[in-house]
Amino acid sequence: MLTEDQLIPISALQHYVFCPRQCGLIHLEQFWSENRFTAEGRQLHERVHEADKENRPGVRIVRGLPIRSYRLGLVGQADVVEFHLADQGIPLSEADGLWQPFPVEYKRGKPKLGKCDQVQLCAQAICLEEMLNTDVPNGAFFYGKPRRRTEVEFTKDLRNYTEEIARQIHLLLDQKRTPTAAYSKKCNSCSLYERCLPKTTGIKKKIDLYLAKAFEESLGEDDS
Ligand code: SF4
Repeated sequence: MLTEDQLIPISALQHYVFCPRQCGLIHLEQFWSENRFTAEGRQLHERVHEADKENRPGVRIVRGLPIRSYRLGLVGQADVVEFHLADQGIPLSEADGLWQPFPVEYKRGKPKLGKCDQVQLCAQAICLEEMLNTDVPNGAFFYGKPRRRTEVEFTKDLRNYTEEIARQIHLLLDQKRTPTAAYSKKCNSCSLYERCLPKTTGIKKKIDLYLAKAFEESLGEDDS
């Protein structure tokens, strides 16, 4: 169990899955550059959190819910948590029966390749389970393009992967060492491209390694 001041933002998970260096630059070195995509995403989240409370038959909806897990050391805010009337779950005030939490995350674009989004949503589910002491087996994304809802099952594999990513981030922050850059296609959509300069810093790292190796070899020759 971690303490309050050891909690890291849930958003760090998707940064780390996208690129460990991006995670280090944002959460260790406090760099943040907003580009068009991150600005649109932020505005969408603000709109979701400002929306009125809404209840439908068999569903209670809470927006902008603060969440945390001391076990994984995570803290954040869920866009939307729906509570579905079910056979198991938790009791709610002013409503009969049991209600199962179901997190819903809003995304401005289309589904991403890889597990960035799923890990973030799974972390929300793990936080809700710890806080409410109940199971959260499923959740959903609402994607802007095309506008549709996609359901996600929080499988054992996804949970294990999410927990491992959380552990890796805590390690990265404890060691206070931002990973070096490795240029790849995803760099072109990275909001930190201008600060990271992956082509330059990647080459510099190779030169540093080359010089360090040459220096070691020259010491070896002197000894002989
Ligand atoms: S530019 Fe590339 S290497 Fe640098 S933080 Fe972004 S994704 Fe990572």
